Amino acid sequence: MPAVKTKRKNPRRPYISVVLPVYNEEDNIRPQYEVIIKALDPLNVSYEVIFIDDGSIDSSPDILRDIANKDRNIKLVIFRRNFGQTAAMSAGIDYASGEIILFMDSDLQNDPNDIGMLLKKMAEGYDVVSGWRKKRMDKLLSRKLPSWVANWLIAKVTGVKLHDLGCSLKAYRSSLLKQVNLYGEMHRFIPVHASWLGAKITEVPVGHHPRKFGKSKVGIIRTFKVLLDLVTVTFLGKYSTKPIYVFGGTGFLLFFLSIFSGITVLLMKITLNQSMTRNPLLLLTVMFIVLSVLFIQIGILAEILIRIYHESQGKPPYSVLETINIRRMR
Ligand code: UDP
Ligand code: MG
Repeated sequence: MPAVKTKRKNPRRPYISVVLPVYNEEDNIRPQYEVIIKALDPLNVSYEVIFIDDGSIDSSPDILRDIANKDRNIKLVIFRRNFGQTAAMSAGIDYASGEIILFMDSDLQNDPNDIGMLLKKMAEGYDVVSGWRKKRMDKLLSRKLPSWVANWLIAKVTGVKLHDLGCSLKAYRSSLLKQVNLYGEMHRFIPVHASWLGAKITEVPVGHHPRKFGKSKVGIIRTFKVLLDLVTVTFLGKYSTKPIYVFGGTGFLLFFLSIFSGITVLLMKITLNQSMTRNPLLLLTVMFIVLSVLFIQIGILAEILIRIYHESQGKPPYSVLETINIRRMR
């Protein structure tokens, strides 16, 4: 086992919190619970396991209630409705009290026996250890290929070079995660946020099993959502405190273009005696001017919005129905 510190200031604070989002996984939950406990116990570290039921409409909540009522190390948060995997993970971060937060799926696709390996890397001083499904057991065309393209693109754009952002099995130093706010389907960008906060990141190959029970909740559409998220993340990461640079910059560029095409129209009139009103470049000049004013105004609006955004944090993107074995209520 890694040289894990066991002395802690707060003895009630576990070393790791394992967070598992659950959405309609009735056939998977009990075996998932059992393999996790079996993998965690020999590691000899204090732990808590937090299941977040993301508004399941099968018997998952009942099974989870039964498990949590019998085992005090199991914490349970049940959402009122389905808020999505990102919101579930976000709740996991809020309710976790461990020094390390470790995520995994509740559909038996990740292998809890890899947890020890992730913890070893954390003990080496990394803040984020990302699982990499080197031998991923999903469909090639609809899942693996889009994921390779997305990961490559994200690495290029954000500079965070990880092979498998979509792999749920990841470990984070909790102090870092508590600073990250998640929206939409943004959970796969957590390592990017962490990296921008200055985290030391590494990745390790992890096992992956095909889904035996239940259905995957995602399809090809998600690739496009991920691409749009990439735009948002990049924008927020690089310009969240200075949106006027993007919009105002575009506005200035358009303004210079309008001057350029305006002068061209005039020159064509003077030297070639070409009619100004019949010259399509005049239309372009007007369009550039209007657009440049609009862009600068959008930039100012964005500056106002960004101030509201930064000053009004603290509202969770989910609603909790009940909790079990959790002392602190939000
Ligand atoms: N999940 C969730 N809310 C949702 C969709 C999925 O909590 O709205 C959970 C799901 O139960 C699983 C994990 O997120 O534990 C990953 O989902 P899935 O297995 O469908 O994704 P895949 O492994 O196919 O990428
Ligand atoms: Mg899965």
